[in-house]
Amino acid sequence: MGTMVDQAVLDGVIETYGSKDGWQGFEARGRSCSWCREPIRLRPSSSRAGSEYFKACGNRRATRCRSCADRYRMDARVLVLAGLDGGKGISEEIRSYPVVFATLTAPSFGAVHRSVSRDGRILPCRPGMKGPCVHGRKRSCAMTYGHHDKLVGEPLCPDCYDYEGAVLFNALVPELWRRVTITARRNLARLYGFTQSEFNEEIRLSFVKVVEYQRRGVIHLHVVARLDHAREDSSLMLNGSLLATAIELAVNQVSLVSPHDGAFVSFGSQLDLQLLEETDPIHRRKVAGYVSKYATKSSDDEGVLDRKIRSAEDLSHRNLTPHLRRLAETAWHLGALPELAHLPLRRWAHTLGFRGHWMTKSRCWSTTFRYLRAERAQWQEGRRQQTIGVDDSDRLIPRYAFVGIGWKNSGEVFFARQRQREMFEIRQMLREHLSSIPAVLPPPIGA
Ligand SMILES: [Zn+2]
Ligand SMILES: [Zn+2]
Ligand SMILES: [Zn+2]
Repeated sequence: MGTMVDQAVLDGVIETYGSKDGWQGFEARGRSCSWCREPIRLRPSSSRAGSEYFKACGNRRATRCRSCADRYRMDARVLVLAGLDGGKGISEEIRSYPVVFATLTAPSFGAVHRSVSRDGRILPCRPGMKGPCVHGRKRSCAMTYGHHDKLVGEPLCPDCYDYEGAVLFNALVPELWRRVTITARRNLARLYGFTQSEFNEEIRLSFVKVVEYQRRGVIHLHVVARLDHAREDSSLMLNGSLLATAIELAVNQVSLVSPHDGAFVSFGSQLDLQLLEETDPIHRRKVAGYVSKYATKSSDDEGVLDRKIRSAEDLSHRNLTPHLRRLAETAWHLGALPELAHLPLRRWAHTLGFRGHWMTKSRCWSTTFRYLRAERAQWQEGRRQQTIGVDDSDRLIPRYAFVGIGWKNSGEVFFARQRQREMFEIRQMLREHLSSIPAVLPPPIGA
């Protein structure tokens, strides 16, 4: 059987060919929005400013728009890296400031199947525990799983699993984190032998953090924290070991009382901390890449939870694993309780209770997404005006009117998807090529 071309696709292609700026116009619009999945169609209010213009949707989630998520990830990487190495308006002096990379984990809410490997060997999931649980289910598992196995993250006994605890932990992570930053500052002041106000005058704690969803549906935080001089003329020694100690203590000190059942809520005891040495720029780049990768994820890998849940019925129609379904349902149920009204859990059932930002940073970390976007928009507009032949004397700040969302017809959708795939194949090839030259950064992606 040959390839069947849909009649609607064919009609669309013919329509675009026959339009004012033809197929070339389509290709140009596609490049200008990097073949976004659902671009916003805009028309300049002045005809001198050219014809229709496609603006990328800008969604950060890879499951919604791969192209815009990739751009977001690149921006996130630039933003993290500028806080480590300088650049984008940040002084290179920043390189000598001590930096700690920390992973704050969630505690256990019950045994789940795991993919365990050591020295390249895959080990049994959960050996050892004798006898069944109170529900008659096995408490040990001798199976071996690869990382992508569907069972990884699913509990051995869903009835033993503390679903409410897991959802409330996710919901309280932003507050836990806020307290960790306050406590870490307090610890630092003490370690330096300062009062808090003396400390604040001398030293600033800056950070950037991202959220990672574990397969078991709870959050880990990846944090890059840096000590800065608060005053330009400060001569105080900035000490990375003190920073690491202050954070470690803070993570262990901070806990909250659950507004639901009065239980203590805190981060898990597993804490990974490493000092990022100035002398190891490759490792710093790796960390920036690692951190920015999480900025484009959703709470599940398939994108079933990449948008809000509107009703119990909406939830029941989503194709989820039993475990993620039960977490989302638990958030939905808890969302009806008056004592938890301040956590709006129904509104955040699709993120399994978590309602913070996926990536946050303190004011002084480095530059901002807004700065990076404005820089790109300016560059793009300059190039656009150049291609349509607006000369400098004539250059105007165009105003746009909204026309619609998405590609114009099935033909454009079909070819836009294809172009997007090609674009990613080329990017992948470039990345593989460049990864063999460690000292070179990947080229800026976009246009
Ligand atoms: Zn997009
Ligand atoms: Zn298992
Ligand atoms: Zn059980």
